[in-house]
Amino acid sequence: MSIATEEQTVVERVEKRLYIGGEWRDASGGGRIDVIDPATEEPVCEVADGTPEDAKAALDAAVEKQAEWGSSAPNDRAGILWRAFELLTERADELALLMTLEMGKPLAESKAEIVYAADFFRWFSGEALRTDGNYKPFANGTSRVLVMKQPVGPSLMITPWNFPMAMGTRKVGPAVAAGCTIVMKPAQQTPLSMIALGQILEEAGLPGGVFNILTTASSGATTGPLIEDPRLRKLSFTGSTEVGRKLIEASAKQVLKTSMELGGNAPFLIFDDADLDEAVEGALLAKMRNIGEACTAANRFHVAEPVRDEFSRRLAERMGSLKVGRGTDEDVKVGPLIDQPSREKVAELVQDALDKGATRVVGGEIPDGRGYFFPPTVLGNVPNDARVFREEIFGPVAPVGGFSSEEEAIARANDTEYGLVAYVFTRDIKRALRVCEGLETGMVGLNQGMVSNAGAPFGGVKQSGLGREGGHEGLEEFLETKYVAVNL
Ligand code: NAP
Repeated sequence: MSIATEEQTVVERVEKRLYIGGEWRDASGGGRIDVIDPATEEPVCEVADGTPEDAKAALDAAVEKQAEWGSSAPNDRAGILWRAFELLTERADELALLMTLEMGKPLAESKAEIVYAADFFRWFSGEALRTDGNYKPFANGTSRVLVMKQPVGPSLMITPWNFPMAMGTRKVGPAVAAGCTIVMKPAQQTPLSMIALGQILEEAGLPGGVFNILTTASSGATTGPLIEDPRLRKLSFTGSTEVGRKLIEASAKQVLKTSMELGGNAPFLIFDDADLDEAVEGALLAKMRNIGEACTAANRFHVAEPVRDEFSRRLAERMGSLKVGRGTDEDVKVGPLIDQPSREKVAELVQDALDKGATRVVGGEIPDGRGYFFPPTVLGNVPNDARVFREEIFGPVAPVGGFSSEEEAIARANDTEYGLVAYVFTRDIKRALRVCEGLETGMVGLNQGMVSNAGAPFGGVKQSGLGREGGHEGLEEFLETKYVAVNL
């Protein structure tokens, strides 16, 4: 099959409608949203543009199903997640192509995301069997303390475009395992992967009403009334800190239980005793995974002075050799950014750094032609007041600055309102642990450029968020604790 026919086939297989109460239906207003291929700027297809009425119908369906689903057998929930894990794995190639068409990342990276996304279902299939509480004697010995875990209840999930499938399964996996029903609102730029996930969950046997999908071009107007609806019990959001703040504020009205996976500004620290080969490999992964459009992307490189120039040179050599192009081409390593405003922001940050005295080691200029491409870029001698050090770049730009002591490295790393992840490269075990303890982040990559793992608690501190996804902690986000004082 030619790639164009293959593209058409995978797009045709996806439902373009809302999924509510186990049925695929058009939006009540009949509206549609264009899905655009960021590599060509051409439409891929259209999907339903859900309205506030559709949102209410989705919550109605979730509420109606909650009691039955919440008391279903953990073995059944585990079995559905396992089957969905298998289906995602079997269909990884076609799902990867679909993701590349709507989001732009190279096929190999899309496939890696499907594998990562599926892994959350595998992990939470096991966790579905571990919603344990406890039973213990009260301190005075005469009564008992019974602690039980119960599903939180109907949950609203809002996800971003950068990992269109994994940011979904990271929430859906634990919610299904815990026995919660769901209204899912994916990003309007990448609805297809989430719809495909809905089709897979349906095929895996998830009962209608447990997972409802609301695609919409008016995220605030459709989800706002749900957040104010007293029947909703949980809001799980992944996206920017700016939108997260608004949603936390809106959630205060019903005192909603919230999980917030927000923006990052990850420092990447390289000490002079680091293995420089490993550091360059780690840097490439931490910077270039997902075209730099990851909350975990290394946003700034702080490098010990004695190795700074060599590191910049070697990183520039590697980044400059990566092929940029449409993600469907096999040897392409860097796809387009998601849209024109995102590319403009990246270009603006680069220009600001250059104006403030940074040097261009490689890249930096927008190429001619269609598609929102930006070349892999390394900036040297970046001053501390450059915006590129302070704001989330979300693009393939690596700004490099120096430090002279361990204390200075930690202070620079922590000099941000964000606290998602940091990367540390050193061969000195004592220093490694001192630095890890000193970093104000929820996660640290120690001598490695990637932290994502379904079995680990992913999340940030400071303005990078609240709560954790993945690991046993991820399940807890969808469980309430009830204490029963037992009189014997
Ligand atoms: P975003 O603009 O905050 O959007 C995220 C989601 O929120 C989208 O579905 C969006 O819908 C929706 N949204 C926007 N405004 C809303 C409102 N007023 N009410 C309800 N929903 C609203 O973020 P993004 O640009 O898609 O994603 C990039 C950001 O996500 C980055 O900051 C990145 O660091 C962060 N992120 C964090 C993690 C993590 O785990 N910490 C993981 C991935 C990404 P529309 O599509 O309709 O705008």
